[in-house]
Amino acid sequence: MPVLFIDCMSVLLFFIDGLGIGSRGISNPFDGLQDAAPLAVFKNEAPVTLDGVLAATDACLGIEGRPQSASGQTTILTGVNAPALLGYHKQGFPNKALLEIIREHSLFLKLKHAGVAPITFANAYTKRFFEDRPHWVSATTAAVGAAGLPFRTIDDLRNGRAVYQDFTNRMLIERGEDVPLRTANEAAEVLAAIAGESRFTLYEYFITDKIGHAQDMEAARTVLQNLALLIRQLLARVDLARTSVILTSDHGNIEDLSLRNHTLNEVPTIVWGANRDRIASRIKSLADITPAIVESLTEKATASG
Ligand SMILES: [Zn+2]
Repeated sequence: MPVLFIDCMSVLLFFIDGLGIGSRGISNPFDGLQDAAPLAVFKNEAPVTLDGVLAATDACLGIEGRPQSASGQTTILTGVNAPALLGYHKQGFPNKALLEIIREHSLFLKLKHAGVAPITFANAYTKRFFEDRPHWVSATTAAVGAAGLPFRTIDDLRNGRAVYQDFTNRMLIERGEDVPLRTANEAAEVLAAIAGESRFTLYEYFITDKIGHAQDMEAARTVLQNLALLIRQLLARVDLARTSVILTSDHGNIEDLSLRNHTLNEVPTIVWGANRDRIASRIKSLADITPAIVESLTEKATASG
């Protein structure tokens, strides 16, 4: 452990797009799936969280309609109830109003202003992103850019210093990138190392939402099992005495493949390690995640839950 951080707590926020708390049944890929802990969380059942604390989290935020990615992710990353501000749930990428919220209130900025450092985004971006600088960017990309944080590259990934959102690298290889396939174990090792050097680390995973929209049961079961393995390997490698690992999602989707759409279900926020009870107890909706993280990293924290 670096001496510099000996008395400092840290947070690893693990974001999974489109993961809700569903009911059992033939449309739920988690039902009957082996080795799916801690991801498999069912309505009205005690969850198998592997020493984590579950906070069933409201993603609807008091606004009618199905929760969506742009407004949900903006809410997670800022603590501002973005759907309430817009009056609706915004799909896809943030619009001007959401970008303004992100640029002013992002978690990265709040931590930066509070002197919490280093803070980092663990995901790798491809060369195309840096060359084309796409007009439409995700809430996180906007937040990272606005806070002046560097983006990790494919070179970083090759050097064991970044994780792609598809942590197996399969999607990158299919696009012609010269990178090796990674096991869940290898990806966990890299992510744990990044988290070990930082006071706040964000990692994002999106394939769950894509598969939910595609309603592909076989792909869902394969991907969820491997994602659950990544998380278990990560928990085994992170120093939980000083680190809080927080898993969350922006809305339900993959837990109910009978629908092409997002669900109205709560999402599982699960907290492991340092301050887990305190952090979990204050999270009721997506808007509570940023304040809980800021609080735990800026207050004098204790290592006990
Ligand atoms: Zn989403």
